[in-house]
Order: sequence, then C-alpha cells, then structure tokens
Amino acid sequence: MRVIFLGQPGSGKGTQARRLAAEYGLAHISTGDMLRAAGKAETPLGQEAKRYMNRGALVPDEVMIAIIRERLQEKDCARGFILDGFPRTQPQADALAKLLRSLGKPVDHVVNLEVSVEELLCRMRGRLTCQSCGAIYHLTFDPPGVEGRCDRCRGRLIHRADDEEGTVRERLAVYSQSTQPLVEYYQARGLLRTVNGTGSIADIVKRVAEAIGAESEEA
Ligand code: AMP
Repeated sequence: MRVIFLGQPGSGKGTQARRLAAEYGLAHISTGDMLRAAGKAETPLGQEAKRYMNRGALVPDEVMIAIIRERLQEKDCARGFILDGFPRTQPQADALAKLLRSLGKPVDHVVNLEVSVEELLCRMRGRLTCQSCGAIYHLTFDPPGVEGRCDRCRGRLIHRADDEEGTVRERLAVYSQSTQPLVEYYQARGLLRTVNGTGSIADIVKRVAEAIGAESEEA
C-alpha cells in the first residue's frame, strides 16, 4: 500500500501516518522529521533547511525531490510507504508521479485530513514533539505518561520553534498557496480520500482505515 497524507500543519498527518505505518508495517516517511534530524546533526542540508523552516517557508523543490528520490529506493519501502509532508507543491507532485512510474509503484490513496483553522491553532499551541524519534503529543489531548519525556523512546519533548503562533500563520498561508492546489490535482486523478480530521485520535484512525479500505485493529 502506498499512501500520501495531505493536510494543513496540525491536521494530524504525522499522528495518523505513524499509526497507520506501524499497523500495516509500512515505511513512514516524514520529510519534516528528516529535515529536523538533519538540522540536529548540523549537516549542510540541515543547516540550509533550518533557514527556511524557522520562518515557516518551504525548502526548495529540487532539494526535497532529491531527498525523496533516495528515500523511496530504500529497502523498507518495498512493502509500501506513507508519505507525510510530501508532496507540498505541484512540481513535487509531478516529480513524485514520474519517479513512482519509473519504479512501477503508483500511489493508491491520497488522504486529505480536514480540520478548521481554529482547531489547528489550538492543537499547535499545545503540540509537543519528541526531539529524538519525532513522536507527537499534546499537552491536553494526548499527554505523555511522564511530563516532558517521550513514552516510546524517553527522548525530550519540545515545543517546535515553527509551532509558535506567528510562524504557524505563515505556514497556513504557505499551505493555502502552494499545497491546497494538490487537493484538486489528486481529485482529478481519482486518488483523493477526504477525511474529517476532528475528534479523538482513535476515531480518526478508524475513518482513515475506512477511507483507504483497510481494516483498523482499533475499529
Ligand atoms: P512538517 O513537519 O511536515 O510540518 O514540516 C516542517 C517544515 O519542514 C515545513 O514547514 C517546511 O519548512 C519543511 N518541509 C517539510 N516537508 C517539505 C516539503 N515537502 N517541501 C518543502 N518543505 C518541506
């Protein structure tokens, strides 16, 4: 199974993509996590990416396309993958389609998680991210067992710099301009599965599973 998650920042892409990938043994490919790891390791890519991420802008297409081209050819993608945060622009979507055609691995579903802007802002105010493994929590809606520590790997939980309100608003504007057109792009290709992203995490897991015709163990 090969799935793309679309949705505004804070719509739950990361949380849902992670769960689905774990449940079905698929590779979870979060371009945001990859860039943050590169930033933490202070590689040249990470340093370049930080300059865009910190102000809520997109990293240039050619950089992102090169990262994904390499990543999709790794072994763990053989059974399928979930793309979380890629593509975010039409050139990225075109490059992905071309790449997957050449690999003989077309996308099966594009899940579009829909959430109101008020809800997104509320979620991102309380969002906590594990600095080590990228797991996502929320201060109120999905708190960790031990304050400030990841349940999975004990890594430190932080409030991402780009989750500050001003940067979030910029990211939402960038989404409307550059990524929203992909909804129509995938609709036209018969791949779009729109899912209401409001409610409990478990309810949304069920809706996503239904939308892609999979059986959820949590159902
Ligand atoms: P995310 O964790 O998906 O919200 O991504 C965090 C940030 O990483 C974004 O605001 C962008 O600056 C950058 N980023 C992640 N994925 C992409 C992409 N496909 N294209 C361009 N920039 C990206």
